[in-house]
Order: sequence, then C-alpha cells, then structure tokens
Amino acid sequence: MTAAVEPQSSAPSTDGLVVLRGVNKYFGAMQALKDVNLSIKRGEVVVVIGPSGSGKSTLCRTINRLETISEGEILIDGHKLPEEGKALADLRADVGMVFQSFNLFAHKTILENVTLGPIKVRKQKKAEAEKRAMELLERVGVEAQAQKYPAQLSGGQQQRVAIARALAMEPKVMLFDEPTSALDPEMIKEVLDVMVDLAKQGMTMVVVTHEMGFARTAGDRVVFMADGAIVEENTPEEFFTHPRSDRAKDFLSKIL
Ligand code: ADP
Ligand code: MG
Repeated sequence: MTAAVEPQSSAPSTDGLVVLRGVNKYFGAMQALKDVNLSIKRGEVVVVIGPSGSGKSTLCRTINRLETISEGEILIDGHKLPEEGKALADLRADVGMVFQSFNLFAHKTILENVTLGPIKVRKQKKAEAEKRAMELLERVGVEAQAQKYPAQLSGGQQQRVAIARALAMEPKVMLFDEPTSALDPEMIKEVLDVMVDLAKQGMTMVVVTHEMGFARTAGDRVVFMADGAIVEENTPEEFFTHPRSDRAKDFLSKIL
C-alpha cells in the first residue's frame, strides 16, 4: 500500500461493523456524549464501564437510534444510520438490544414475545417463526416456559427470554445495557452464561456491565467512560490490573 492511499492517522477506522465518528449528543445544554470515536470489529465483544451518568446508556441508545445524535455519524456494517422510515427500521433490526428491565410484553406469552418481531418486521411465516423461537428458547434454557406469561417467570428467565427475543431478529450486533443489574444475585450467572456462549459463538457485542468476571472471560476490550467521553480503552486484563487514568483508578477503587 502506498502512503497516498493510507488513511490519515487522525481519521478513525471505517472498517468496523459498528463505527462511531465524532459523535456528540446534547440533552439541552448538557452534553451526554463528547466526541466519541469507536470502531467495533465483527465478532468483537466490547465491555463498556464507567460511573453512573457517564453516558453508557446514551451510547447504546444512539447505536440503535433510540436517541438521535447531535453531531457526528454512526455506521452499522458500512451503512450510515438513516433518519427515519423503513430504512431505519431495517437497520435498527440489525441491532439487538437487551435492557436492564426486561421489557417483555406482559400480555403475550413467552413464545409470542419472541415471534412478534420476526413475523411483523422480518415477515416470517408464523410456523417458521415459532420453530426458530423454540430453538432460541432452548438455547437460553427456557423452552419449558414457552406458553407462560412473563410474570410467571423469574427475573433471570425473563432476561434470557429478552435475549432470545433480540436474537430472533438475527441482529448483526447485540447491545446489552446492564442486563444483570436488576436481577437477584443467584440469577446473574444464568444470564451471564448465555452471554458468554453468545460471545463464544462469534456475536458482535457491546455490553455495559460492571461484572468483571464477564469482562475477563468474554471481553476483547474494555471501554471506560467518564463525563460522556471515552477516557481509556484496553484489554480487560490490562484495564483491571493497570488502569492508566486517574478517573479509571478512582472508579475501580470503588467497585473492586
Ligand atoms: P449512564 O448510563 O452511564 O449512567 P446515561 O447515558 O444514562 O449514563 O446518562 C448520561 C447523562 O445524560 C446523564 O447526566 C443523564 O442525566 C443524561 N440524560 C440521559 N438521558 C437523558 C434524557 N432523555 N434527557 C435529559 N438528560 C438525559
Ligand atoms: Mg445507564
């Protein structure tokens, strides 16, 4: 490669599956994201950590366009996130999201929760969607609950259904925003185990969590945020043992 075609060293890479370039997000006068540049490779598992209010949820929400960005651009698999319409719906379907609160439809069965998106958005036939949904429910270990309603399941089971529901859309990337924070301690592992499996199978993932065990087992990279900015990035091992910034050192001293 000649020097002439090499990207400028200041330009962030464009070859990631998820690329954020110069992303700024304001809520009124408050800046929630500050010049965020991030390129996530296919199959990469990025763990996002940082104090409360540092912009982790906003980061996830901008990636699947639950929030618009004020400046910059976000590309999913090379495509810029469209403003609205079918193109946005299609692209959003490429991004699966699992929230802290499981957000299942209370008046639909577990099976219906998982088949709804594939039937409505992906235009799958009911029988086909149900077959695939049962495979996914089996994969996350809740196939026996398929005909029940969300309230009849434990929190850990509901969160695993939420993961199956997101996977049913066959997303290119999965975002997890503190998926175990609302769970009783004994249910955390069953959800993390499903996420570790997913990572091993090559899913591209952005995971907001303070679960260090998960970060070390499944994470390829830790991104540490403070005050809306990415302050530090490193391998999980390096980040947890040798944080460089004072903000990261201070944060780790409080959670470790
Ligand atoms: P984290 O997930 O790291 O705790 P958030 O992304 O939720 O942080 O929030 C980052 C900042 O943006 C916080 O100061 C929060 O109060 C603010 N914020 C988030 N969402 C909104 C909103 N819809 N309206 C106004 N401010 C918001
Ligand atoms: Mg949050």
